[in-house]
Amino acid sequence: MNRVLHRAPWLATGSFGTDLPLLIANGGVLVADGRIQAVGPWASLRQAANQVIEHEGCVLAPGLVNCHTHLELAWMAAVPGVPAATDDMTGWIRKLLVRRKDAPDEPVILAAGRAALASMAQAGTIMVLDIGNDLASAAIGKNQPTRVNFLLEMLGLAVSASNRLAALPLEMACTPHAPYSTGPALIQGIKQRSRLNGGLLSIHVAESAEEIRFLMNGDGPMMNFLLERGAWTPSFTGPGTDAVTYLDRLQVLDRHTLCVHCVHLRDSEIDLLARRQAKVCLCPGSNRHLGVGRAPVMAMLQRGLRPGLGTDSLASNPGLSIWEEMRTLRQDWPELDPAVVFAMATSGGSQALGLDRLYGLLTPGRTARFLAVPLRAGLSSDEIFPYLTTLGDSLRPRWVEG
Ligand SMILES: [Zn+2]
Repeated sequence: MNRVLHRAPWLATGSFGTDLPLLIANGGVLVADGRIQAVGPWASLRQAANQVIEHEGCVLAPGLVNCHTHLELAWMAAVPGVPAATDDMTGWIRKLLVRRKDAPDEPVILAAGRAALASMAQAGTIMVLDIGNDLASAAIGKNQPTRVNFLLEMLGLAVSASNRLAALPLEMACTPHAPYSTGPALIQGIKQRSRLNGGLLSIHVAESAEEIRFLMNGDGPMMNFLLERGAWTPSFTGPGTDAVTYLDRLQVLDRHTLCVHCVHLRDSEIDLLARRQAKVCLCPGSNRHLGVGRAPVMAMLQRGLRPGLGTDSLASNPGLSIWEEMRTLRQDWPELDPAVVFAMATSGGSQALGLDRLYGLLTPGRTARFLAVPLRAGLSSDEIFPYLTTLGDSLRPRWVEG
């Protein structure tokens, strides 16, 4: 068996609240059979290897995990955003729907999605959770170097919206759009299905203040928007509470539920997410583009949540780079530890997707496909994570395979 030792001046393991050291100096990653066999100071592993490959001037790191995107919207390329704090999510959705009227043919949509995915792969993304409204979009991520898990998104407040779900084969993984757009029976039906097929339920949660107002009071711009679209139904009685409490009442919050965005949360909701061991995906770039605010990440971390990062789509974000998401998050929260931001981009994401046995960490058992990121010369240990989390797309990672 060929046992290859990858040697580098630094290893960033991706550790997030585990015993694994965050950073190993003069490290080695021993790989064989497509898996990481051992990680540590390179000198301790030298005897076990048939071959040593040097990665001079680099930090070895896990591939990045993107917990939330919509590849089928890649052709839209940034619907104009909303200035910060204007609180106009529905205004942005209207602009998106206008743009959607000019949708190209399906092959063009699929090609744009594949091109977006190829750029993510080149930038070091190893795993993507992709959400699409169209079943044909599942083809975008097939047989690509970046692993893509696809979920078919469903929405509709009317009771009849559940009929489409019943018509789909059980193995088709589905996801509800959001608490304000998807009726309770449909959310529960999708959760029941994901429990049966062992999958994840991902849902946009508390993205905008307009959503919370609609759920709490049944009025405001979101209500007007749904009425205007003919999407509201008298059978939907607003829950009269916040988004997370509502989902908990529906009994759909557990460790296999991924709550995406989580911008407008009260402390009690963060407590509830932590108690249910629900997962969180932050999308700082999209939140900034839509001007909806910033997620309360410090409070989440204090309560033991370990968020992953997502880009959302090219319709709501100028790029699909997790490096840029790290940079935006650090700008939003300068007090955040850069090592924790890097952990969110790697093992935070793989934990959120329930795939941390394969991705997100440099530790035995994980895939032998990871990154070598060139560093500026002379960086000290204190400077590695600030460097990785502030340079965005100017970083040029290379893939290390096997
Ligand atoms: Zn989204």
